[in-house]
Amino acid sequence: MQTWQCLPNCGACCHLDPRDRPDLEMYLSPAELQQYLSMVGEAGWCIHFDHTQRQCQIYDTRPRFCRVTPDTFEQMYAVSPADFDKFAINCCCEQISGVYGQQSEEMQRYTAGVQEEMP
Ligand code: SF4
Ligand code: SF4
Repeated sequence: MQTWQCLPNCGACCHLDPRDRPDLEMYLSPAELQQYLSMVGEAGWCIHFDHTQRQCQIYDTRPRFCRVTPDTFEQMYAVSPADFDKFAINCCCEQISGVYGQQSEEMQRYTAGVQEEMP
C-alpha cells in the first residue's frame, strides 16, 4: 500500500489547460468551473502559480478543486477514502507525465518518493 504525497516544487497539477481536462464539468460545480477557467493563464498555467519556486501563491486559500484530500476526492470523484491514495497517486503520475514527461526527473522523484512510503 503506497501513501499519496505531494512532490515539493512540482506544480504539474497547476497546469490547468482545459483541453487536457475535457471532463471538468463532471466534477466541478458551475461556479467552480467558472473560477477554474478564470485561473487559466499563459500556456495553460494557473495565474497563481509561481514558476520560479514552483509553488502556489495562494496556497492557504486555494480552491476546493486544488485540495488533494480524501474528503475533496470523495466529493468530486466519488472515490472512497480507502481508495484515495491509489487514485491520487495515479492522478499525480498522469499529470507529471503529461506536463514534464514520463522519463522526467520529476517523475523519477515522485515514484521514488511514494515507493519510500511503502511499509
Ligand atoms: S501533480 Fe501531484 S505531486 Fe505534483 S504538485 Fe500536484 S499534487 Fe503535488
Ligand atoms: S490555485 Fe494554486 S494550487 Fe490551484 S492550480 Fe493555481 S497555483 Fe495550483
